[in-house]
Parts: sequence; C-alpha cells; structure tokens
Amino acid sequence: MDYSYTEDQKMLQKMLQDIGEKELKERAKEIDQSHRFPRENVELMAEAGLMGLTVDEKYGGGGMDYICYSLAVEELSKACASTGTIFSAHLSLCTMPIQDWGSDEQKEKFLKPLASGEKLGAFALSEPGNGSDAAAMNTTAVEDGDNFVLNGSKAWITNGAEADIYLVLAQTDKELKHKGVTGFIVEKGTEGFSFGKPEDKLGIRASSTTQLHFDNCKIPKANVLGQVGDGFKIAMKTLDGGRVGMASQAMGIARAAFEESIAYANEREAFGQKILDFQAIQFKLANMSTDIDAARYLIYAAATAHDRGEQFSRLSAQAKVFASEMAMKHTVEAVQIHGGYGYTTEYNVERYMRDAKITEIYEGTSEIQRIVIAKALQKEML
Ligand SMILES: Cc1cc2nc3c(=O)[nH]c(=O)nc-3n(C[C@H](O)[C@H](O)[C@H](O)COP(=O)(O)OP(=O)(O)OC[C@H]3O[C@@H](n4cnc5c(N)ncnc54)[C@H](O)[C@@H]3O)c2cc1C
Repeated sequence: MDYSYTEDQKMLQKMLQDIGEKELKERAKEIDQSHRFPRENVELMAEAGLMGLTVDEKYGGGGMDYICYSLAVEELSKACASTGTIFSAHLSLCTMPIQDWGSDEQKEKFLKPLASGEKLGAFALSEPGNGSDAAAMNTTAVEDGDNFVLNGSKAWITNGAEADIYLVLAQTDKELKHKGVTGFIVEKGTEGFSFGKPEDKLGIRASSTTQLHFDNCKIPKANVLGQVGDGFKIAMKTLDGGRVGMASQAMGIARAAFEESIAYANEREAFGQKILDFQAIQFKLANMSTDIDAARYLIYAAATAHDRGEQFSRLSAQAKVFASEMAMKHTVEAVQIHGGYGYTTEYNVERYMRDAKITEIYEGTSEIQRIVIAKALQKEML
C-alpha cells in the first residue's frame, strides 16, 4: 500500500505544522494549567478552514479525505491535545454524521454553520450510568405531536457547555434496546436543556467536558437524524470514523514526547557524556520511533479503507488500541528520559503523559476495542 502524501496532503500538513508551532503550542501549557477553553484556537481553526475539512465542498467544507483528517488531528494534538479533542469531537462526532445521515434541510441549517466553524458541535452518547454499554442508555424521547420530548442526562460530553449543536442519542423504544435508539440534533438554548459543572480532569484539561441535562426538552421531529431507530447504527458508524482520529491524536502526542525527548537527551549530561550517548536511552528512542511508525501504518490503513467505502471497524479499532497504548507507554518513557525535570511542569512531557491516558478511554476503552476486533475476526474467519 502506498502511503506517500499527495500535494494537497503535504500542503495541509505544512499549514497545520505552522499553526501548531506558531500558535497552539505556545498556549498549550497555559490553557492546561488554567483549564481554560481556548475559544481563540477554535476561531483560528475556523479561519484555516479546518472545522469542515472533510465536509463536501457544496456545504462549505474542504472536501478532503480521511488521511487529511488524520493529519489534522495528529498535528493539532501534537501541539495541543486539548485542541485536537475539541476539533475531532466537532468534526467527526457531530458534523460528519449530519453530512452522512442528515436531510437536505438539516444540512442547510446545521451542516453549513458547523463546516464553517461558525457553530461548534458535540456528540452525546455516554451517560452517568453507562458508557461502554451505550445501548443501556436511560435518556428517553417520547413522541408528542410534531415533537419528541427528551428526558435524562448525558455524561462526559466533549465541547459540553461550549458547543452550539449537539447530536444526542436517546431511547424512543426501550423494549427494542439498541434498535430503539434515535439520534436528535439539539440546539443550545432549547428550553429544558441545561449543563452540569465542568469536569476536573487529569488531562486534555482545556477541553470542556460536562454533563447535559434534558428536562421535558421538546425537539422538533424535523431534527431526528436519519430514521427513528437508526440512532445506534449512526453512533457506532460515527465511532468507527472517530477512532481513526483518536489514534491520530495518540500518535501526535507520542511524536511530541519523542521529539522533546531527543532534544533533552542531546543536552543533558551525566557521567561526563550526553545521556543520548547511553545505549539505554537510545533503545527507548528507537522503540518510540518504531511504534510511532507502526501506528501510522495502522491509522492510514483504516483511513484508506474508510475513503474506499470498505468495512473498517476492525482496522479503526486496531489503530486506536495500538496507538493509544503506544502513546501511554512512550509518554511515560519520555518522563523517564527527562528524569526529575520530567516530573515537573517545567517541561511538557508530564502533560503529554496525562493527555495520552484519555486516548485509552474515550470513544471506546481499550477493552472495548479488543471486543470489536475479536467480533470482526469471528465474522471474517467463520
Ligand atoms: C474526557 C472525556 C471526554 C469524553 N467525551 C465524550 C463525548 O464527547 N461523548 C460521549 O458520548 N462520551 C464521551 N466520553 C465518555 C467515554 O466514551 C466513556 O467514558 C467510555 O466509553 C467508557 O465508559 P465508562 O466511563 O462508563 O466506563 P465503563 O463502561 O463503566 O467501564 C469501566 C471499565 O470496565 C471495562 N469494561 C466495560 N465493559 C466491558 C466488557 N464488556 N469487557 C471488558 N471490560 C469492560 C472498561 O473497559 C473500563 O475499563 C468522554 C469521556 C471522557 C473521560
């Protein structure tokens, strides 16, 4: 398989690297420490045309492929993982499902402002009592004339209080379990829709994570995404795509840790020589570099299958579980290479280690990825 970049992909990568180096990286430590949502980063991404990167050009998007999506999440997350999270939740979890499943009216009303970055998107599947077992959700939507009435709470929602448009999954028929789940497009400001307090997190601390509460919240039937009962299918397909982004985020964080480890090892001396000259340190760096490349090939295999319209659930789960565990392992190693300094906020590697952890949890934990892979293998092999 040929993974050499096209001219468009190279140009995008260069633009992302410039934005990352000149703007995002500089702010990353401050917004992590203050837990501040970086609205200026969202505006910057909108100006650069990133918020609708993979959306059809006819809706104001960039019309780019999934390798481009991967490159964007990788480079943004390398500079600032919180910004990578804000971007990926907006584009892959809210904007793309509206493109893939929305009616013409929904695309006109919601997709266009999402693609331009005028509006920010969020995706609400998880609940306080169930994350991995998403079909066990308790949020209900009951038909009432021209509306559905939503009741219940969603948990851990990225872009929580900051978004404008939410894709919310709710049970329209609990008896049918996952086949009774329906997707709704919910606008901020709808009566009966409120937010919990921001979660105080280990990492990606500048991204907003909140609960959403629905109390007799009336949603017009025109805001049902796809058909009634399509919600679980939409959510699972959305997560297949989203996981390519989460793997790319992990790869970006690992690359940041790798590059800063080399630079530090080249400066720091012990026993009269640079620590880079110790074979023990060289082996850590060799392992990092090898695993980052391996992650990239898995990610691009999944992204390519996505773009060809092939089944890619197994590939995206494999990319996510490998890249996230790789990022966790190597950001810990990066702290080790930095010694005592690595344990302080003077260097970035402690943040990379904290940020890497979430990639093993959201959009399906590593355990859930292995279940997805094993189920796909059973289907493919039997
Ligand atoms: C910062 C952050 C942002 C998030 N953003 C969003 C968002 O935007 N939208 C959204 O909908 N959700 C979001 N989530 C929720 C996230 O997707 C869930 O936390 C995740 O899916 C795990 O669900 P849980 O927390 O309920 O853990 P649980 O499902 O309770 O799992 C607990 C443990 O049990 C394991 N486990 C569960 N079931 C099995 C099984 N069958 N076999 C083996 N092990 C199992 C899990 O792997 C895990 O180790 C976010 C979470 C965080 C922390």
